[in-house]
Amino acid sequence: MTQPSPEKQATCWCGGLPTPSVHPLYGNCPACGTQVLLRQLSAEELKAFYTEGYWHEFVQNTYKLPSIEERAVNDFYDRLPFYFRMLLRYAPLPDSLLEIGCSHGGFLYYCRQSGVRHLDGIEVDANICAFAKKRFNLPSVIPGFFPDVVLPRDRYDVVAGFDVLEHFINPIEVMTAVAGKLDEKGICFFLTPCYRGEDRTWDRFRPDEHTFLYTEAAIGELYRRSGLDVIDIVPGLYSQDMYIIGKKHTATSAPATPAATPSAAPVSVVITTCNQPGLLAEALDSCNRQSAKPAHVVVVNLGATDVSPVVRRFEPSLSITAVSCPAGSTTAVGRNKGLSLANQPWAAFLCDGEFLFPNHFETLLPFLAKSDCMAVYADSYRALQVVRGPGYFTFRNDLVFSSDFDPVALRFHNLFPLACAVVRRSCFVSVGLFDESLAWCSDWDFWIRFSRAFSAVHVPRITCEYKFRIDGSLLAPGSREAFVRDQAAVLGRYVAPGEDSDILRDPQRGRVPCERDPAVPYPRIDAFMTSIVKLVEQNQVDLAKRYYSATRPLMPPSPELDKFDTIMERLYKK
Ligand SMILES: [Zn+2]
Repeated sequence: MTQPSPEKQATCWCGGLPTPSVHPLYGNCPACGTQVLLRQLSAEELKAFYTEGYWHEFVQNTYKLPSIEERAVNDFYDRLPFYFRMLLRYAPLPDSLLEIGCSHGGFLYYCRQSGVRHLDGIEVDANICAFAKKRFNLPSVIPGFFPDVVLPRDRYDVVAGFDVLEHFINPIEVMTAVAGKLDEKGICFFLTPCYRGEDRTWDRFRPDEHTFLYTEAAIGELYRRSGLDVIDIVPGLYSQDMYIIGKKHTATSAPATPAATPSAAPVSVVITTCNQPGLLAEALDSCNRQSAKPAHVVVVNLGATDVSPVVRRFEPSLSITAVSCPAGSTTAVGRNKGLSLANQPWAAFLCDGEFLFPNHFETLLPFLAKSDCMAVYADSYRALQVVRGPGYFTFRNDLVFSSDFDPVALRFHNLFPLACAVVRRSCFVSVGLFDESLAWCSDWDFWIRFSRAFSAVHVPRITCEYKFRIDGSLLAPGSREAFVRDQAAVLGRYVAPGEDSDILRDPQRGRVPCERDPAVPYPRIDAFMTSIVKLVEQNQVDLAKRYYSATRPLMPPSPELDKFDTIMERLYKK
């Protein structure tokens, strides 16, 4: 095991001197909170480390991850579409993009297939660059360490780097150079682990390669010292990580000095809970941590479990009204009860398994001040959870909903989880309350009625989360059947018989499948192509064409499929 050399005291990137940390090979910077690798790696060591051996032996043996060739296929099934959709939220179709540490080149290829015209990638090892160029036919993949490389362009709309920041030995130098490469309106988009006080078993402690592990506050300071402003910090696809979206600091940028503390949010948050005191505590805690705290909270107990000990814990810091409904009442009954006790002009709703990120109300606050705004909603992560040890573990976040308010699409399906929204309370007077006969779709039914009189503002920022447990433990028995029944009831109310549901297939409308449902994996490319070839060989050309046109849109981008498409085009022309 490598020991820090005593004569060479490691320092934090910020200049702080690390004190002992939870991990023996890292130190904790008392100035900024970064976890600092005590053994200082030299540029030569790093270069030697990231040669082909890194991707082939080290990554596969140490982390049991697939080889780079496999990742060049697998990454299209999860992380690459996610990165791209995250990017689009901040940079609507950029024209030029630089990726630092582009590895197999899959993200550059994905961007090109999605319309980005000028793409450059940098990767340390020349062999990996050659692999990326060949695999994805990329013209510009440059070997070396940023910023010590010659780039074809002076400025980019986007500079991105995934899992690279934590490897830099001189992050200020690198990020200052990133700022220098950004167009005036450009953004930088980085993904790195986020240290939140984990113990030594945290899997992002990797003393062979991770030099600095940042906290949210530390990364903000790093950006500031590098001439960048942080636009947003968002939890990653894997919850140990964070995305940091930044832009070049300009004189007109918001001052880096602490802004005035946002005022309280004029909102009554109605929290319905049913025998999940742990999740109730989490929801209350998320209200308590808001940078713009809600002025009032109503806890409505729908279960048999006494929740008063949980409520008491938060009473010193939140203004809480607690009430019970008869056990077995629907969530809609609880929400209506909560509304009757609400005392603020706006209402928000949470239930078990939902919670708000600290910036939720602060993000929506400017809209609450507008007299013509009747409702506003942000986006929510879905946290996919499995059992691990004594509790549940979020193995990944995804974004199922993110669409603007569309009354037509709304008649066919709900557009967002209710937890994302804040509604002006007076709306319920004109539109009516939640339909208590609906166990599952009372919010959807409410929004349809709402949409006939008003519109809602969509703020495309992720500010909340709802848990989805793969084992279904957050759902009561019979929920699936109840959901289907409710769905049919609502469709029956608002969609005329025979009304074409083609609208659901229009990709411009309604639900944006930002992340595919993990329960429905992509069809495998090789199996797809083999099936078509077999059908053609059996002279079933029409069937092959039908299968191709139905299944092709479900496929991830891939060079093999590009070639296959040209073959199929010829088949269609025959
Ligand atoms: Zn520091």
